[in-house]
Amino acid sequence: MPLKDPIAAYNASSNLEAHLVCTLLNEAGVEAMVVEDVSTAGLWVGGTVSEIHKPQVFIERDDIERARPLLTDYDCQNATRTAAQRNSAAVDFIQMECEHCRSLLQFAGSLSGTVQLCPQCRKYVDVVDPNAPQDWQIADESP
Ligand SMILES: [Zn+2]
Repeated sequence: MPLKDPIAAYNASSNLEAHLVCTLLNEAGVEAMVVEDVSTAGLWVGGTVSEIHKPQVFIERDDIERARPLLTDYDCQNATRTAAQRNSAAVDFIQMECEHCRSLLQFAGSLSGTVQLCPQCRKYVDVVDPNAPQDWQIADESP
């Protein structure tokens, strides 16, 4: 079903991602559709499309308020995944101090962003890679 008043809600980096976002929105009850690079499709005359530019996810203008938190969530998870991938490639392990017992702990770089048990004091510690971008993380501070 075509959208009545579509606006571009998300610029995906690939058609696959565009469909992923579209599915995510659909599952949340937001009607969405993927437009896979209109400009290339318009010029396509039977040859191989060698370059896909920016596919976009379109939604109803009225749904933008509902869609925005979903897209923000998606971007956060995406950033986490990207950071995790980058970290696992660049960092083999994370060295950090246990916030409870001050022991020097070492975790695999792939555990960045997870919660693990401190082997010394058996309390939960947040594994934080000091090299990872932090701005999307929720501050762990009690009011
Ligand atoms: Zn500890």
